[in-house]
Amino acid sequence: MKIAVWANQATHSQEIKEELLKRCANIVQIDDKEPDIVISIGGDGTLLSAFHHYNTLNKPTFVAIHTGHLGFYTDFLANQLQELVDYLVSAKQNTYSYPLLDITLVNEQKTMTALNELTLKTTSGTLVCQVYIGEELFEVFRGDGLCVSTPTGSTGVSKSLGGAVVHPKVEAMQLVEIAALNNVVYRTIGSPLILPKDETVRLKVIHAQDPIITYDNVRPIHLGGKNNAIVEIKLSKERIHFADYKHIDFWSRVEGAFIGDIKGKKK
Ligand code: NAP
Ligand code: MN
Repeated sequence: MKIAVWANQATHSQEIKEELLKRCANIVQIDDKEPDIVISIGGDGTLLSAFHHYNTLNKPTFVAIHTGHLGFYTDFLANQLQELVDYLVSAKQNTYSYPLLDITLVNEQKTMTALNELTLKTTSGTLVCQVYIGEELFEVFRGDGLCVSTPTGSTGVSKSLGGAVVHPKVEAMQLVEIAALNNVVYRTIGSPLILPKDETVRLKVIHAQDPIITYDNVRPIHLGGKNNAIVEIKLSKERIHFADYKHIDFWSRVEGAFIGDIKGKKK
């Protein structure tokens, strides 16, 4: 069993990393290059960075320890390190998995994977883009941009844009608008769309001063204003795998993250 530990720069995370490495010494092999298991220490953002660093050919399993509050990808608490070490040495390492998005920049034949979402937007002015679902032109969008999220990404920026919270067992992606222009001249659907797996969304930029795509917490990619960029998005055949040791119920996470203590106050 080869493991890598990926921690954010917070002092607390670095302390946990040291403690974990101490407990793992002589039990598991540390391999930062080709690990079987990646242990992320920090928040959801830390796990996103770990995923983009390690989502290489050998597709490791992820474990995320939360050092702030409970996140959407983080299962372990900092005071449960021994249980985590026990999991690492146990013979039966069950996993669970979540959907990912395949993103293709058609003009450049470049592909990326997203765990949370992709956004297509313009840094200034209005983005005009054709939205194809499958082979059909569905609408012409005008506004700030569009966001396509995975189920686990539905609680990220997609939710702030008015998207629905989607249970990760639902194999679907969600298309949400970012400030669409809607009046007697221009018309978009105006509500989030939930698309099943095997369906492809194709966004064809018609006009934008500086169209960019962002995905998860990766640096934005500038598509260039002149060449009618086409971005294709679909649910990936690959999934991200997490250690199934103490999986926390999705609705408990949603409740903990967005409702929390306010319930008691409302009684
Ligand atoms: P960040 O700007 O440092 O953090 C944005 C916040 O989003 C953090 O609180 C982060 O949690 C949280 N987050 C990340 N993934 C989430 C998920 N799947 N469900 C619920 N919350 C989530 O950026 P970052 O930490 O590098 O993460 C990038 C992600 O942040 C993007 O993929 C996007 O979904 C989200 N985001 C949201 C908004 C918004 O709601 N307006 C704006 C920008 C980005 P931790 O504190 O645990 O890291
Ligand atoms: Mn963060």
